Amino acid sequence: MARVVVVGGGFAGLASAARLAKLGHEVTLLERSATLGGALGTVEADGFAWDAGPTWTTLPAVVRDLFRKSGRPVERELELEPLDVVREHRFVDGTAVTVPSGRGAQVAAFDDLAPGLGQRWVDHVASYTDVWETLRREYLEVPWDPRSPSRPLSAVLDDRQTLHKRLRRTFRDERLALVAGHPAVAEGHDLRNVPAWAGVTAYVEQRFGAWTVQGGMARLAEALAARMTTRGVTVRTGTTARDLVVREGRVVAVDLGAEQVDADVVVVAVDPRLLPALAPLVARTMPAIPPVVAHLGLEGDVPDLRHELVLHGDPLLVVRPGGRAPSGASAWTVHGRGKLAEDMLRALARDGIDVRAQVVTRVDRTPRDLVEAWGGSPLGVLWQGRATVRQRLGPTTPVAGVYAAGAHATPGAGLPYVGLSAALVAQAVGPA
Ligand SMILES: Cc1cc2nc3c(=O)[nH]c(=O)nc-3n(C[C@H](O)[C@H](O)[C@H](O)COP(=O)(O)OP(=O)(O)OC[C@H]3O[C@@H](n4cnc5c(N)ncnc54)[C@H](O)[C@@H]3O)c2cc1C
Repeated sequence: MARVVVVGGGFAGLASAARLAKLGHEVTLLERSATLGGALGTVEADGFAWDAGPTWTTLPAVVRDLFRKSGRPVERELELEPLDVVREHRFVDGTAVTVPSGRGAQVAAFDDLAPGLGQRWVDHVASYTDVWETLRREYLEVPWDPRSPSRPLSAVLDDRQTLHKRLRRTFRDERLALVAGHPAVAEGHDLRNVPAWAGVTAYVEQRFGAWTVQGGMARLAEALAARMTTRGVTVRTGTTARDLVVREGRVVAVDLGAEQVDADVVVVAVDPRLLPALAPLVARTMPAIPPVVAHLGLEGDVPDLRHELVLHGDPLLVVRPGGRAPSGASAWTVHGRGKLAEDMLRALARDGIDVRAQVVTRVDRTPRDLVEAWGGSPLGVLWQGRATVRQRLGPTTPVAGVYAAGAHATPGAGLPYVGLSAALVAQAVGPA
């Protein structure tokens, strides 16, 4: 049995701790804030409550596997609600497309935009089938070594094409390129710096669909927090890891400043730049910056929007209706990126959704507020070209006994990749 210390109590830290405890290790989880869950939290004001970060996700198998492998199945603890529509996109020319989860429905939806676009869209998505299979087999489900990836994985990762170029070549209709590039743009990336293979997200969304948790995504964190108790994990909230103590190339403890916590294994489920022992190893990477966020409490009748509405243009606005609201009122969250010199609600009004007179409460959070609240960016590492994938840590690191999970150890932020990263760490550490 190893003494495992998990640094960070977001989805990655909780998932890693649950799995490693089930494998028989003695696990301690350190979380700097007072609550667990990281970006999987709730913002509350004046009777309204909003998901602070994630509101939906894809690849439910990742969460199912986590719950099953660490205790009771997820269906016994949470209500996962499938979403028939992933997103609605509205373009500056006034046209719009609502993207459902399945293939056949997507053909019809894009054909509504213009005849023939449906086939072009599903062909593009299907072109990622082999990439997904390679990534799944060689990267996402087995601990891979960035210094010596398998040959099929190298073929994917070393492809020089950028997502920007791939989308320009594939689509003459710019709207399709905007839809296909959106997941990466929403996570703060410039498509010129994103490798084409990372566009696999469109395939994952189409093939595995989208779902949310009834009652808010924070329920997922609450269920995992409860699992810490059932699995006997020692949880220390309000506890910030300052550094790792490394002797002769192997980790021996986590330094809290006033004390040290002895460890045989440390799982870093935070931005490794925060820990001086690891920072030089990721010196060439940068964090992807969260969007500007406004949580809105609205009174009266509001437009009936899909789970996520994307308003293309500059600024790029994403409206996520949902959350808890007093009777007769509605909760929305708006994310903005790009030219945000004016208030987001003014830009939203120009896009035809004017709710300015209906705002009864509003919580604004700048990217800086978010990074400070979460002790790093939950969007992980910024793509700066195809080499970025080898400049990240995880699941193993060059320091013996140190493993990396979470948004900073995956090829894309998002709960599925983060959940998979925790499974990889558990696999790499192995049973007690
Ligand atoms: C605005 C926004 C919206 C998003 N929407 C979605 C979505 O709809 N669907 C989706 O799948 N994904 C979404 N994401 C991405 C998702 O939030 C992340 O993939 C996921 O939450 C990352 O989990 P994590 O555990 O790696 O990091 P975090 O959630 O950031 O957790 C890190 C934890 O570590 C703690 N910590 C930091 N430093 C230390 C330290 N030194 N010592 C101890 N503890 C420390 C922090 O307090 C925090 O609790 C969104 C992200 C943002 C920012």
